[in-house]
Amino acid sequence: MIGGGPAGLMAAEVLAQGGAAVDLFDAMPSVGRKFLLAGRGGLNLTHSEPTPRLLARYGERNEALHPAVGAFDGAAVRAWAEGLGIATFVGTSGRVFPQDMKAAPLLRAWLQRLRAMGVTLHARHRWTGWGDDGALRFTAPQGEVKHAAAATVLALGGASWPRLGSDGAWVPLLQQRGVEVAALRPSNCGFDVAPTGPGRSGWSDHLRERFAGQPLKTVAAAVGDRDGGPRRLAVSAEGRPSGEAPRSPRRAASATPAFAPGEFVITDTGIEGSLVYAFSAPLREQIARDGQATFLVDLLPQHTPAQVLAETSRPRGPRSLSTHLKSRLGLQGLKMALLHELLTPQQLADPAQLAQALKALPIPLARPRPVEEAISTAGGVRFEALDANGMLRAVPGVFCAGEMLDWEAPTGGYLLTACFATGRSAAQGALQWLAARPAAA
Ligand SMILES: Cc1cc2nc3c(=O)[nH]c(=O)nc-3n(C[C@H](O)[C@H](O)[C@H](O)COP(=O)(O)OP(=O)(O)OC[C@H]3O[C@@H](n4cnc5c(N)ncnc54)[C@H](O)[C@@H]3O)c2cc1C
Repeated sequence: MIGGGPAGLMAAEVLAQGGAAVDLFDAMPSVGRKFLLAGRGGLNLTHSEPTPRLLARYGERNEALHPAVGAFDGAAVRAWAEGLGIATFVGTSGRVFPQDMKAAPLLRAWLQRLRAMGVTLHARHRWTGWGDDGALRFTAPQGEVKHAAAATVLALGGASWPRLGSDGAWVPLLQQRGVEVAALRPSNCGFDVAPTGPGRSGWSDHLRERFAGQPLKTVAAAVGDRDGGPRRLAVSAEGRPSGEAPRSPRRAASATPAFAPGEFVITDTGIEGSLVYAFSAPLREQIARDGQATFLVDLLPQHTPAQVLAETSRPRGPRSLSTHLKSRLGLQGLKMALLHELLTPQQLADPAQLAQALKALPIPLARPRPVEEAISTAGGVRFEALDANGMLRAVPGVFCAGEMLDWEAPTGGYLLTACFATGRSAAQGALQWLAARPAAA
């Protein structure tokens, strides 16, 4: 077992339950560091929605993850946590959290159970590949260490937050063995804005200095299509985008709202926060394809377009535009600053264009923030490189689990759910493989 994140720990548990002698290696001085970080803002363990809807969150990888997540869904994750003595609750959005919101008590109980099951932890052991004799090679405090394993589960994570252990350094090690790996890319990430005016590299100095770090609340957002119109995302019952963007905006329009509600933050270089993360996959793909993407922001989701147009068209006499918009539509501060940042004086002066921008203000995006800063990673070991048991076709006896596999999902507990589920299924595959080996007979 290599990698002591949630996927690796789950694999170790299932392997030990199956009677295997488990050695768990991790590069870091302690395991579960990203899991602990995830608990800092409230550990969202899984989601309470029905399994088919949960599976739909994995978009194109829905089918590939179906066996694992279908067998260890939201209800199973909750039951498992309760088995560790961690009571859970369902939040208003349907997300599932431990009662105390923290990861540390769960991790403590989990490690205790793993030790009691006989799992041996080897911290500070960085896996560097295989020796000529097929043994696993590690760099450890005492120098190079070799370990011959009858079966290996790799759960090495993606490439986000590398200082917590998962740095993607495993990619060339697997590629050298002929394993197909999709490029690791940021997911659930922030974005840099494209220059918002001549002579700028992103936001104006004024916007950055006055508003970086400030949240934009009570807004809704959508991804602009190539023609600048809203590219409508399927939105769940709770109003959260599913991450799947129907190709035809017009066809989808009747079934789903165009914009999803939420909030996000203006940063020094662009935008970040939950509403941006929810759209990060289509935004990232649009930038990869077209060189730029547009994040459309409805600054007044409680107002209809007609109401907004009525107010922008209303004569304002000697009042300034800012005073008028503040008194008639409650616009001020950052929302007002964004209008001045992104619209020309002519657009601001034209009631129809201003009304349109208030309901769909286009923020041009140049690039996603680096994967190191992202919540999670897209890309990884392709499912085509695995057999039905999660074993690498190119490296018999080696199984893969967790975020190092080529799937992505929005936040909402879907990331951990798939990590637990694939850890479990890879371990089951390894147990089957061990049982079928002639030496084990
Ligand atoms: C700020 C933040 C908040 C999050 N919040 C949530 C949340 O609330 N809900 C949710 O579902 N998800 C959340 N996530 C995502 C979730 O934490 C990850 O998806 C999950 O930890 C991935 O699990 P994993 O086991 O695949 O990999 P990791 O947790 O990354 O673990 C991989 C392990 O492998 C080890 N490793 C890597 N390379 C080597 C090597 N060469 N040799 C030895 N060991 C190695 C690493 O040290 C690490 O311990 C959050 C992520 C972040 C960054």
